[in-house]
Amino acid sequence: MFELVLGTNNAKKLIELRLLLPEDQVQLTTLAEIPGSIDVEETGDTFQANAALKATEQAKHLQRWVLAEDSGLTVSALKGQPGVMSARYAGTHGDDEANNDKLLRELEAVPDERRDAHFNCYLCLSDPDGQVRLEENGRCGGRIAHQRSGGAGFGYDPLFIIREYHRTFGELDLTVKRAISHRSRALRKFIPHLLRLIEQES
Ligand code: IMP
Repeated sequence: MFELVLGTNNAKKLIELRLLLPEDQVQLTTLAEIPGSIDVEETGDTFQANAALKATEQAKHLQRWVLAEDSGLTVSALKGQPGVMSARYAGTHGDDEANNDKLLRELEAVPDERRDAHFNCYLCLSDPDGQVRLEENGRCGGRIAHQRSGGAGFGYDPLFIIREYHRTFGELDLTVKRAISHRSRALRKFIPHLLRLIEQES
């Protein structure tokens, strides 16, 4: 079994990542299960840079293979914001309620046809020496609602409308999110490369 650490403390992200990774070939450990993991600062200007920081710094520290991801919401009418600041848009890291309130305020006067947005997810796999071995990304397009709907998911899910379903991610079942989300898309591209790498390493 290939031992892989998932480099995130976000419980909801962990559920989504676990659902898609092949658990018969990969033994997954989360940061919460490892004493002494570090909190890596996200100082990069891009999702890709932050995913790489979270993977390589944690991997070097733990001397383990680490898969990290960085994700966020890009809103066209806000010139790409919140972007890499998605988790701390309103000031406090991980305050989803405040972040959603701020997004609604910023888009108050913006009509439907200019409320396009997309989620991005960048994945990075680091070996125990801190070398980036695989990178992949995925994207999911939608539109920002005028008010929250639904309690599923996390982050901006209650405001993110999937056009094809006329529903927000907050209203849609996790099986739908699993099929179309930025995270799932990135993972589906990533997994064949991971399996090849596991074969080479064994
Ligand atoms: P990160 O931990 O820096 O990657 O922060 C990602 C942030 O982007 C989260 O805290 C959410 O605000 C937002 N985000 C990323 N993926 C999703 C998603 O699938 N649904 C809703 N919000 C997301």
